[in-house]
Amino acid sequence: MPLSCVFCELVKHQAWIHETTHFALVWDIAPMRDGHLLILSKPHHESLSELNSIELDELMALQLQLLQVIKATDPSLDVTYILNNGLLKDEGTHFHLHVLPRQPHDGFWEGKPSTFSFPKARFLENLSK
Ligand SMILES: [Zn+2]
Repeated sequence: MPLSCVFCELVKHQAWIHETTHFALVWDIAPMRDGHLLILSKPHHESLSELNSIELDELMALQLQLLQVIKATDPSLDVTYILNNGLLKDEGTHFHLHVLPRQPHDGFWEGKPSTFSFPKARFLENLSK
């Protein structure tokens, strides 16, 4: 791990809201929308291409689980996943996948501001079931 990787620090201090063997789920500290989550790899990976087949399977399963939990929280929502891979991720971070709960026609891709409020408490309750 590099000297200063913010995600390695988060993982070390177990500052997540949910975890699997190789991944941790956290709220984004600078959310693009309410409910913006990050899936972080626990190992310090720089790129998607560094994940092994077990981690890739686990990542896909976690994405599916989050989709199901978000749908259970509010069936009118769906999810956008965004990966800024390798050279495109912020300096001082490691592999992470953005999870953005969204409403249809919310202007996200047009860069419109959002008044959307994500039901976090209900989401966390559903996630813990
Ligand atoms: Zn790291």
